Amino acid sequence: MCFVITGLFLVNAFNLYKRMMGAEEVVSALSDQYVKPVGIFYPRGNIYDSRGIRFTNTQGICGIYAPSKAESAAVAKNVVGEVAIDKDKTTSEGCKGISGIQALYDSLLSGGSAVKLNAYVDAMGNVTDAGYYVLNDHINEGCDIYLTLDYHIQKRYEEVLKEYSAQNNVKNLSAVLIEIKTGNILAMASEGGEMNNAVLSYQPGSIMKIITAAVAYERGLIDESTTYDCDGKVDVGGHERGCAGGAVHGNITIARALGVSCNCCFYTLAKELTYELPNGAMGSYVLDKARLWGFSSYGQPNKDRFPLEYEEHYSFVPEMLYNEMDIFNCALGEGRTQASCLIMAKITGAIAGGGVMNEPKIVDRITDAAGNIVPLEDEKVFDLGLKAETIEWLKGAMLQTAISGTAAGVDLNATGGFAGKTGTAENASDKPHGWFTGYFPANSPEYSLCVFIEQGTSGIKAAGLFGILAKELYNIYPD
Ligand SMILES: [Zn+2]
Repeated sequence: MCFVITGLFLVNAFNLYKRMMGAEEVVSALSDQYVKPVGIFYPRGNIYDSRGIRFTNTQGICGIYAPSKAESAAVAKNVVGEVAIDKDKTTSEGCKGISGIQALYDSLLSGGSAVKLNAYVDAMGNVTDAGYYVLNDHINEGCDIYLTLDYHIQKRYEEVLKEYSAQNNVKNLSAVLIEIKTGNILAMASEGGEMNNAVLSYQPGSIMKIITAAVAYERGLIDESTTYDCDGKVDVGGHERGCAGGAVHGNITIARALGVSCNCCFYTLAKELTYELPNGAMGSYVLDKARLWGFSSYGQPNKDRFPLEYEEHYSFVPEMLYNEMDIFNCALGEGRTQASCLIMAKITGAIAGGGVMNEPKIVDRITDAAGNIVPLEDEKVFDLGLKAETIEWLKGAMLQTAISGTAAGVDLNATGGFAGKTGTAENASDKPHGWFTGYFPANSPEYSLCVFIEQGTSGIKAAGLFGILAKELYNIYPD
Protein backbone atom coordinates (compact mmCIF):
# COMPACT_ATOMS: atom_id res chain seq x y z
CA MET A 1 0.00 0.00 0.00
CA CYS A 2 2.75 2.33 0.95
CA PHE A 3 4.53 1.83 -2.36
CA VAL A 4 1.38 2.89 -4.21
CA ILE A 5 1.12 6.09 -2.21
CA THR A 6 4.76 7.00 -2.74
CA GLY A 7 4.34 6.20 -6.44
CA LEU A 8 1.51 8.73 -6.60
CA PHE A 9 3.67 11.40 -5.02
CA LEU A 10 6.17 10.81 -7.77
CA VAL A 11 3.59 10.94 -10.55
CA ASN A 12 1.91 14.10 -9.21
CA ALA A 13 5.18 15.87 -8.73
CA PHE A 14 6.33 14.77 -12.15
CA ASN A 15 3.19 16.12 -13.84
CA LEU A 16 3.56 19.39 -12.04
CA TYR A 17 7.12 19.87 -13.23
CA LYS A 18 6.23 18.69 -16.73
CA ARG A 19 3.77 21.58 -16.99
CA MET A 20 6.48 23.97 -15.93
CA MET A 21 9.29 22.78 -18.16
CA GLY A 22 10.24 20.34 -20.87
CA ALA A 23 10.54 16.57 -20.13
CA GLU A 24 14.34 16.44 -20.41
CA GLU A 25 14.75 19.33 -18.05
CA VAL A 26 12.46 17.54 -15.55
CA VAL A 27 14.78 14.58 -15.20
CA SER A 28 17.69 16.86 -14.67
CA ALA A 29 15.80 19.03 -12.20
CA LEU A 30 14.55 16.03 -10.21
CA SER A 31 17.97 14.50 -9.87
CA ASP A 32 20.09 17.65 -9.45
CA GLN A 33 17.97 20.12 -7.64
CA TYR A 34 14.77 18.84 -6.12
CA VAL A 35 15.51 15.31 -5.10
CA LYS A 36 17.91 14.14 -2.45
CA PRO A 37 18.74 10.52 -1.67
CA VAL A 38 18.11 9.96 2.04
CA GLY A 39 19.45 6.45 2.27
CA ILE A 40 19.52 2.84 1.17
CA PHE A 41 16.92 0.64 2.78
CA TYR A 42 16.53 -3.09 2.87
CA PRO A 43 13.00 -4.46 2.52
CA ARG A 44 12.53 -7.13 5.13
CA GLY A 45 9.65 -9.01 6.72
CA ASN A 46 8.60 -8.30 10.26
CA ILE A 47 8.51 -10.47 13.36
CA TYR A 48 5.32 -10.47 15.44
CA ASP A 49 3.88 -12.19 18.49
CA SER A 50 1.18 -14.84 17.94
CA ARG A 51 -1.57 -12.22 17.75
CA GLY A 52 0.20 -9.79 15.48
CA ILE A 53 1.88 -7.37 17.86
CA ARG A 54 5.18 -6.27 16.34
CA PHE A 55 8.52 -7.09 17.85
CA THR A 56 10.41 -5.43 14.95
CA ASN A 57 10.13 -2.34 12.75
CA THR A 58 8.70 0.01 15.29
CA GLN A 59 10.80 2.75 13.63
CA GLY A 60 10.38 1.86 9.94
CA ILE A 61 9.94 4.53 7.26
CA CYS A 62 7.02 4.10 4.93
CA GLY A 63 6.68 0.38 5.51
CA ILE A 64 10.28 -0.24 4.56
CA TYR A 65 12.21 -1.94 7.27
CA ALA A 66 15.28 0.09 8.10
CA PRO A 67 16.97 -2.11 10.67
CA SER A 68 20.12 -1.28 12.50
CA LYS A 69 21.63 -2.42 15.78
CA ALA A 70 20.10 0.59 17.51
CA GLU A 71 16.64 -0.35 16.32
CA SER A 72 16.67 -4.00 17.44
CA ALA A 73 13.55 -5.26 19.16
CA ALA A 74 12.76 -3.72 22.55
CA VAL A 75 10.81 -6.79 23.67
CA ALA A 76 12.01 -10.38 23.00
CA LYS A 77 15.37 -8.96 21.86
CA ASN A 78 17.25 -12.22 22.53
CA VAL A 79 14.67 -14.31 20.68
CA VAL A 80 14.19 -11.99 17.70
CA GLY A 81 17.95 -11.45 17.34
CA GLU A 82 19.71 -8.80 15.31
CA VAL A 83 20.53 -7.87 11.73
CA ALA A 84 23.78 -6.43 10.43
CA ILE A 85 23.74 -3.77 7.72
CA ASP A 86 26.53 -3.29 5.20
CA LYS A 87 25.61 -0.08 3.38
CA ASP A 88 28.22 -0.78 0.68
CA LYS A 89 26.15 -3.68 -0.57
CA THR A 90 22.97 -3.01 -2.49
CA THR A 91 22.03 -6.69 -2.85
CA SER A 92 20.16 -8.63 -0.16
CA GLU A 93 23.63 -9.43 1.24
CA GLY A 94 23.68 -5.90 2.62
CA CYS A 95 21.19 -6.84 5.32
CA LYS A 96 21.72 -10.17 7.08
CA GLY A 97 20.21 -11.69 10.22
CA ILE A 98 23.09 -12.51 12.56
CA SER A 99 21.33 -13.98 15.60
CA GLY A 100 18.04 -15.42 16.83
CA ILE A 101 15.03 -15.66 14.52
CA GLN A 102 16.61 -12.97 12.27
CA ALA A 103 19.48 -15.37 11.49
CA LEU A 104 17.50 -18.60 11.50
CA TYR A 105 14.88 -17.35 9.03
CA ASP A 106 17.11 -14.86 7.19
CA SER A 107 16.31 -16.12 3.70
CA LEU A 108 12.55 -15.89 4.29
CA LEU A 109 12.68 -12.49 6.01
CA SER A 110 14.94 -10.97 3.38
CA GLY A 111 13.07 -8.79 0.90
CA GLY A 112 15.73 -8.96 -1.80
CA SER A 113 17.85 -6.11 -3.12
CA ALA A 114 18.12 -2.77 -1.41
CA VAL A 115 15.97 0.17 -2.47
CA LYS A 116 17.04 3.77 -2.63
CA LEU A 117 14.79 6.10 -0.74
CA ASN A 118 14.69 9.67 -2.12
CA ALA A 119 13.06 12.80 -0.80
CA TYR A 120 11.94 16.07 -2.41
CA VAL A 121 13.89 18.98 -1.10
CA ASP A 122 13.47 22.72 -1.37
CA ALA A 123 16.13 25.13 -2.60
CA MET A 124 17.70 25.07 0.87
CA GLY A 125 18.03 21.28 0.78
CA ASN A 126 15.31 20.66 3.40
CA VAL A 127 12.88 17.78 2.86
CA THR A 128 9.53 19.20 1.70
CA ASP A 129 6.08 17.91 2.60
CA ALA A 130 5.90 16.17 -0.79
CA GLY A 131 7.36 13.17 1.04
CA TYR A 132 9.62 10.27 0.18
CA TYR A 133 9.60 7.91 -2.75
CA VAL A 134 11.32 4.74 -3.77
CA LEU A 135 13.61 5.17 -6.75
CA ASN A 136 13.74 1.66 -8.19
CA ASP A 137 10.96 -0.91 -8.58
CA HIS A 138 10.56 -3.33 -5.79
CA ILE A 139 8.18 -6.25 -5.60
CA ASN A 140 9.55 -8.60 -2.96
CA GLU A 141 9.04 -7.51 0.65
CA GLY A 142 10.05 -10.69 2.50
CA CYS A 143 7.94 -12.96 4.67
CA ASP A 144 6.47 -12.02 8.04
CA ILE A 145 7.06 -14.37 10.97
CA TYR A 146 4.55 -14.79 13.78
CA LEU A 147 6.13 -16.27 16.90
CA THR A 148 4.29 -18.34 19.52
CA LEU A 149 5.34 -15.73 22.10
CA ASP A 150 2.71 -13.58 23.79
CA TYR A 151 3.95 -9.97 23.68
CA HIS A 152 2.40 -8.98 27.01
CA ILE A 153 3.71 -11.99 28.97
CA GLN A 154 7.13 -11.73 27.31
CA LYS A 155 7.40 -8.02 28.14
CA ARG A 156 6.34 -8.46 31.77
CA TYR A 157 8.63 -11.47 32.31
CA GLU A 158 11.58 -9.47 30.97
CA GLU A 159 10.73 -6.60 33.34
CA VAL A 160 10.46 -8.96 36.33
CA LEU A 161 13.83 -10.59 35.55
CA LYS A 162 15.43 -7.16 35.17
CA GLU A 163 14.01 -6.00 38.52
CA TYR A 164 15.10 -9.23 40.22
CA SER A 165 18.58 -8.90 38.74
CA ALA A 166 18.97 -5.35 40.06
CA GLN A 167 17.55 -6.08 43.51
CA ASN A 168 19.52 -9.28 44.09
CA ASN A 169 22.75 -8.37 42.33
CA VAL A 170 22.71 -11.41 40.04
CA LYS A 171 23.73 -11.25 36.39
CA ASN A 172 22.22 -13.87 34.15
CA LEU A 173 18.66 -15.10 34.49
CA SER A 174 16.14 -16.81 32.26
CA ALA A 175 12.58 -18.11 32.29
CA VAL A 176 10.70 -20.26 29.78
CA LEU A 177 6.90 -20.55 29.87
CA ILE A 178 5.21 -23.26 27.76
CA GLU A 179 1.51 -23.80 27.13
CA ILE A 180 1.12 -27.53 27.77
CA LYS A 181 -1.82 -28.29 25.45
CA THR A 182 -0.04 -26.86 22.39
CA GLY A 183 3.69 -26.96 23.20
CA ASN A 184 3.79 -23.25 22.29
CA ILE A 185 6.47 -21.21 24.01
CA LEU A 186 4.58 -18.21 25.40
CA ALA A 187 7.60 -16.49 26.94
CA MET A 188 11.34 -16.98 26.66
CA ALA A 189 12.86 -14.24 28.79
CA SER A 190 16.58 -13.69 29.22
CA GLU A 191 18.30 -11.04 31.32
CA GLY A 192 22.01 -10.29 31.28
CA GLY A 193 24.64 -10.95 28.63
CA GLU A 194 24.40 -10.79 24.86
CA MET A 195 23.18 -14.36 24.34
CA ASN A 196 19.79 -15.94 24.99
CA ASN A 197 20.29 -17.42 28.47
CA ALA A 198 17.18 -19.59 28.15
CA VAL A 199 18.90 -21.86 25.62
CA LEU A 200 22.37 -21.82 27.20
CA SER A 201 23.25 -24.82 29.36
CA TYR A 202 24.41 -24.86 32.98
CA GLN A 203 24.77 -27.45 35.72
CA PRO A 204 21.17 -28.21 36.67
CA GLY A 205 21.61 -29.44 40.25
CA SER A 206 18.76 -31.38 41.85
CA ILE A 207 16.16 -30.78 39.15
CA MET A 208 17.88 -33.81 37.54
CA LYS A 209 16.44 -35.91 40.40
CA ILE A 210 13.14 -35.82 38.47
CA ILE A 211 14.71 -38.12 35.84
CA THR A 212 16.22 -40.48 38.45
CA ALA A 213 12.87 -40.69 40.26
CA ALA A 214 10.98 -41.42 37.02
CA VAL A 215 13.40 -44.16 35.93
CA ALA A 216 13.51 -45.77 39.41
CA TYR A 217 9.70 -46.01 39.49
CA GLU A 218 9.34 -47.06 35.85
CA ARG A 219 11.80 -49.94 36.30
CA GLY A 220 10.09 -51.17 39.47
CA LEU A 221 13.04 -50.32 41.74
CA ILE A 222 10.66 -48.33 43.96
CA ASP A 223 6.91 -47.96 44.50
CA GLU A 224 4.58 -45.76 46.60
CA SER A 225 5.49 -47.53 49.82
CA THR A 226 9.27 -47.66 49.38
CA THR A 227 11.09 -45.72 52.07
CA TYR A 228 14.65 -44.50 52.50
CA ASP A 229 16.38 -43.89 55.82
CA CYS A 230 18.47 -40.71 55.60
CA ASP A 231 20.92 -40.27 58.48
CA GLY A 232 22.34 -37.11 56.90
CA LYS A 233 25.38 -38.70 55.28
CA VAL A 234 26.30 -41.24 52.67
CA ASP A 235 29.50 -43.08 51.69
CA VAL A 236 30.60 -42.28 48.16
CA GLY A 237 33.48 -44.59 47.25
CA GLY A 238 35.16 -44.12 50.64
CA HIS A 239 34.35 -40.40 50.94
CA GLU A 240 31.60 -39.23 53.27
CA ARG A 241 29.13 -36.81 51.72
CA GLY A 242 26.47 -34.93 53.69
CA CYS A 243 22.83 -34.56 52.66
CA ALA A 244 21.47 -31.34 51.15
CA GLY A 245 22.12 -28.36 53.42
CA GLY A 246 23.33 -30.62 56.27
CA ALA A 247 19.81 -32.04 56.73
CA VAL A 248 18.96 -35.38 58.35
CA HIS A 249 15.71 -36.45 56.70
CA GLY A 250 15.05 -39.69 58.65
CA ASN A 251 12.76 -42.42 57.32
CA ILE A 252 10.88 -41.02 54.32
CA THR A 253 9.04 -42.22 51.21
CA ILE A 254 10.80 -41.62 47.87
CA ALA A 255 8.16 -39.05 46.92
CA ARG A 256 8.98 -37.18 50.12
CA ALA A 257 12.71 -37.57 49.36
CA LEU A 258 12.11 -35.78 46.03
CA GLY A 259 10.09 -33.08 47.81
CA VAL A 260 12.87 -32.36 50.31
CA SER A 261 15.60 -33.11 47.74
CA CYS A 262 17.44 -35.80 49.76
CA ASN A 263 20.87 -36.27 48.20
CA CYS A 264 21.58 -39.51 50.08
CA CYS A 265 18.41 -41.17 48.76
CA PHE A 266 18.97 -40.13 45.15
CA TYR A 267 22.62 -41.15 45.14
CA THR A 268 21.58 -44.60 46.41
CA LEU A 269 18.90 -44.91 43.70
CA ALA A 270 21.24 -43.67 40.95
CA LYS A 271 23.86 -46.25 41.99
CA GLU A 272 21.31 -49.05 41.64
CA LEU A 273 20.35 -47.79 38.19
CA THR A 274 23.82 -48.29 36.68
CA TYR A 275 24.96 -51.28 34.65
CA GLU A 276 28.34 -52.56 33.55
CA LEU A 277 29.66 -51.78 30.09
CA PRO A 278 32.02 -54.06 28.10
CA ASN A 279 34.88 -51.56 28.60
CA GLY A 280 34.58 -51.77 32.39
CA ALA A 281 32.90 -48.37 32.84
CA MET A 282 29.25 -47.99 33.83
CA GLY A 283 26.19 -47.11 31.84
CA SER A 284 23.14 -45.65 33.55
CA TYR A 285 19.44 -46.11 32.86
CA VAL A 286 18.99 -42.54 34.09
CA LEU A 287 21.45 -41.17 31.51
CA ASP A 288 19.88 -43.35 28.80
CA LYS A 289 16.50 -41.82 29.60
CA ALA A 290 17.96 -38.31 29.67
CA ARG A 291 19.26 -38.85 26.13
CA LEU A 292 15.81 -39.98 24.97
CA TRP A 293 14.40 -36.79 26.44
CA GLY A 294 16.72 -34.52 24.45
CA PHE A 295 20.06 -34.47 26.26
CA SER A 296 23.08 -35.40 24.20
CA SER A 297 26.54 -36.58 25.22
CA TYR A 298 29.37 -34.15 25.76
CA GLY A 299 31.14 -33.46 22.43
CA GLN A 300 28.20 -34.85 20.44
CA PRO A 301 25.72 -32.02 19.91
CA ASN A 302 22.19 -33.19 19.29
CA LYS A 303 21.19 -32.98 15.63
CA ASP A 304 17.57 -32.46 16.65
CA ARG A 305 18.40 -29.46 18.76
CA PHE A 306 15.88 -26.69 19.32
CA PRO A 307 16.10 -24.08 16.54
CA LEU A 308 17.44 -21.25 18.74
CA GLU A 309 20.09 -23.29 20.58
CA TYR A 310 23.69 -22.26 20.00
CA GLU A 311 26.04 -24.73 18.31
CA GLU A 312 28.44 -24.77 21.21
CA HIS A 313 25.85 -24.83 24.02
CA TYR A 314 23.59 -27.81 24.43
CA SER A 315 22.14 -29.93 27.21
CA PHE A 316 24.28 -33.00 27.87
CA VAL A 317 24.97 -35.86 30.28
CA PRO A 318 28.10 -38.05 30.51
CA GLU A 319 28.43 -40.85 27.95
CA MET A 320 29.40 -43.26 30.75
CA LEU A 321 30.32 -43.25 34.44
CA TYR A 322 33.67 -44.32 35.87
CA ASN A 323 33.33 -44.35 39.66
CA GLU A 324 31.01 -43.69 42.58
CA MET A 325 31.84 -39.98 42.74
CA ASP A 326 30.80 -39.79 39.10
CA ILE A 327 27.45 -41.40 39.97
CA PHE A 328 27.04 -39.02 42.93
CA ASN A 329 27.74 -35.90 40.84
CA CYS A 330 25.48 -37.09 38.07
CA ALA A 331 22.61 -37.89 40.48
CA LEU A 332 22.91 -34.34 41.82
CA GLY A 333 23.07 -32.70 38.40
CA GLU A 334 26.68 -31.62 38.78
CA GLY A 335 29.97 -32.66 37.20
CA ARG A 336 29.57 -33.49 33.52
CA THR A 337 25.87 -32.67 33.28
CA GLN A 338 24.36 -29.51 31.83
CA ALA A 339 20.82 -28.46 31.04
CA SER A 340 19.06 -25.43 29.60
CA CYS A 341 15.99 -23.73 30.99
CA LEU A 342 14.23 -24.72 27.77
CA ILE A 343 14.84 -28.48 28.05
CA MET A 344 13.70 -28.54 31.68
CA ALA A 345 10.51 -26.59 30.85
CA LYS A 346 9.88 -29.10 28.06
CA ILE A 347 10.36 -32.20 30.27
CA THR A 348 8.23 -30.65 33.01
CA GLY A 349 5.50 -29.78 30.51
CA ALA A 350 5.41 -33.36 29.20
CA ILE A 351 5.16 -34.75 32.76
CA ALA A 352 2.29 -32.35 33.51
CA GLY A 353 0.65 -33.28 30.20
CA GLY A 354 0.48 -36.97 31.13
CA GLY A 355 3.76 -38.04 29.54
CA VAL A 356 3.26 -36.52 26.10
CA MET A 357 3.34 -32.97 24.73
CA ASN A 358 3.94 -31.33 21.36
CA GLU A 359 7.63 -30.60 20.86
CA PRO A 360 7.97 -26.97 22.03
CA LYS A 361 7.98 -24.48 19.21
CA ILE A 362 8.71 -20.77 18.84
CA VAL A 363 7.35 -20.04 15.33
CA ASP A 364 3.58 -20.14 15.05
CA ARG A 365 3.18 -19.27 11.37
CA ILE A 366 4.88 -17.51 8.44
CA THR A 367 3.15 -15.48 5.73
CA ASP A 368 4.60 -14.29 2.42
CA ALA A 369 4.34 -10.70 1.10
CA ALA A 370 0.90 -11.48 -0.38
CA GLY A 371 -0.35 -12.80 2.96
CA ASN A 372 -0.29 -16.49 1.99
CA ILE A 373 0.70 -19.03 4.65
CA VAL A 374 4.15 -20.54 4.06
CA PRO A 375 4.14 -24.26 4.97
CA LEU A 376 6.16 -25.18 8.07
CA GLU A 377 7.57 -28.50 9.21
CA ASP A 378 4.99 -30.85 10.74
CA GLU A 379 4.63 -30.63 14.50
CA LYS A 380 6.52 -33.31 16.38
CA VAL A 381 5.33 -35.11 19.49
CA PHE A 382 7.57 -35.36 22.53
CA ASP A 383 6.84 -38.61 24.40
CA LEU A 384 8.61 -39.35 27.70
CA GLY A 385 8.04 -43.09 27.19
CA LEU A 386 6.74 -43.59 30.74
CA LYS A 387 3.76 -45.62 31.96
CA ALA A 388 0.69 -43.69 33.13
CA GLU A 389 1.20 -44.87 36.73
CA THR A 390 4.80 -43.59 36.71
CA ILE A 391 3.61 -40.17 35.58
CA GLU A 392 0.91 -40.07 38.26
CA TRP A 393 3.39 -41.01 41.00
CA LEU A 394 5.93 -38.49 39.71
CA LYS A 395 3.36 -35.69 39.71
CA GLY A 396 2.45 -36.59 43.29
CA ALA A 397 6.15 -36.46 44.24
CA MET A 398 6.59 -33.06 42.56
CA LEU A 399 3.54 -31.84 44.46
CA GLN A 400 5.37 -32.68 47.71
CA THR A 401 7.95 -30.01 46.82
CA ALA A 402 5.19 -27.38 46.78
CA ILE A 403 3.12 -28.59 49.73
CA SER A 404 5.75 -29.38 52.34
CA GLY A 405 9.11 -29.54 50.57
CA THR A 406 11.75 -27.11 49.36
CA ALA A 407 9.22 -24.75 47.68
CA ALA A 408 6.66 -24.72 50.52
CA GLY A 409 7.31 -20.98 50.96
CA VAL A 410 5.68 -20.22 47.60
CA ASP A 411 1.91 -19.73 47.77
CA LEU A 412 -0.08 -20.09 44.56
CA ASN A 413 -3.20 -21.51 46.23
CA ALA A 414 -5.39 -18.70 44.89
CA THR A 415 -4.73 -19.92 41.34
CA GLY A 416 -4.82 -23.68 41.95
CA GLY A 417 -1.34 -24.38 43.33
CA PHE A 418 1.67 -25.83 41.55
CA ALA A 419 4.13 -28.73 41.54
CA GLY A 420 7.81 -28.87 40.66
CA LYS A 421 11.39 -29.31 41.76
CA THR A 422 14.11 -27.03 43.10
CA GLY A 423 17.73 -27.25 41.99
CA THR A 424 20.80 -25.80 43.70
CA ALA A 425 23.89 -26.48 41.60
CA GLU A 426 27.17 -26.16 43.50
CA ASN A 427 29.51 -24.14 41.39
CA ALA A 428 33.21 -24.68 41.97
CA SER A 429 34.21 -21.04 41.62
CA ASP A 430 31.36 -19.08 43.16
CA LYS A 431 27.82 -19.08 44.54
CA PRO A 432 25.53 -21.96 43.46
CA HIS A 433 23.07 -21.61 40.59
CA GLY A 434 19.37 -21.57 41.47
CA TRP A 435 16.77 -23.50 39.46
CA PHE A 436 13.10 -24.19 39.70
CA THR A 437 11.05 -26.11 37.17
CA GLY A 438 7.35 -26.66 37.69
CA TYR A 439 3.83 -26.60 36.35
CA PHE A 440 0.54 -25.00 37.35
CA PRO A 441 -2.31 -25.24 38.30
CA ALA A 442 -1.43 -28.41 40.22
CA ASN A 443 -4.48 -30.56 39.38
CA SER A 444 -5.23 -29.48 35.83
CA PRO A 445 -1.87 -28.23 34.51
CA GLU A 446 -1.92 -25.57 31.80
CA TYR A 447 1.61 -24.17 31.93
CA SER A 448 5.13 -25.36 32.60
CA LEU A 449 7.68 -22.79 33.72
CA CYS A 450 11.39 -23.18 34.33
CA VAL A 451 13.41 -20.43 36.03
CA PHE A 452 17.21 -20.21 36.14
CA ILE A 453 19.34 -17.77 38.15
CA GLU A 454 23.08 -17.96 37.54
CA GLN A 455 24.78 -17.87 40.95
CA GLY A 456 21.35 -17.23 42.42
CA THR A 457 22.48 -19.11 45.57
CA SER A 458 19.62 -21.63 45.84
CA GLY A 459 16.67 -23.39 44.30
CA ILE A 460 14.50 -21.86 47.01
CA LYS A 461 15.27 -18.39 45.59
CA ALA A 462 14.43 -19.64 42.08
CA ALA A 463 11.16 -21.09 43.41
CA GLY A 464 10.33 -17.63 44.78
CA LEU A 465 10.88 -16.10 41.35
CA PHE A 466 8.79 -18.90 39.79
CA GLY A 467 5.95 -17.89 42.14
CA ILE A 468 6.24 -14.22 41.12
CA LEU A 469 6.20 -15.08 37.40
CA ALA A 470 3.24 -17.47 37.74
CA LYS A 471 1.25 -14.73 39.52
CA GLU A 472 2.20 -12.19 36.84
CA LEU A 473 0.60 -14.45 34.22
CA TYR A 474 -2.72 -14.29 36.08
CA ASN A 475 -2.35 -10.54 36.53
CA ILE A 476 -2.12 -10.16 32.75
CA TYR A 477 -4.80 -12.75 31.96
CA PRO A 478 -7.03 -13.05 35.06
CA ASP A 479 -9.04 -15.93 33.56
ZN1 LIG B 1 18.60 -36.71 53.14
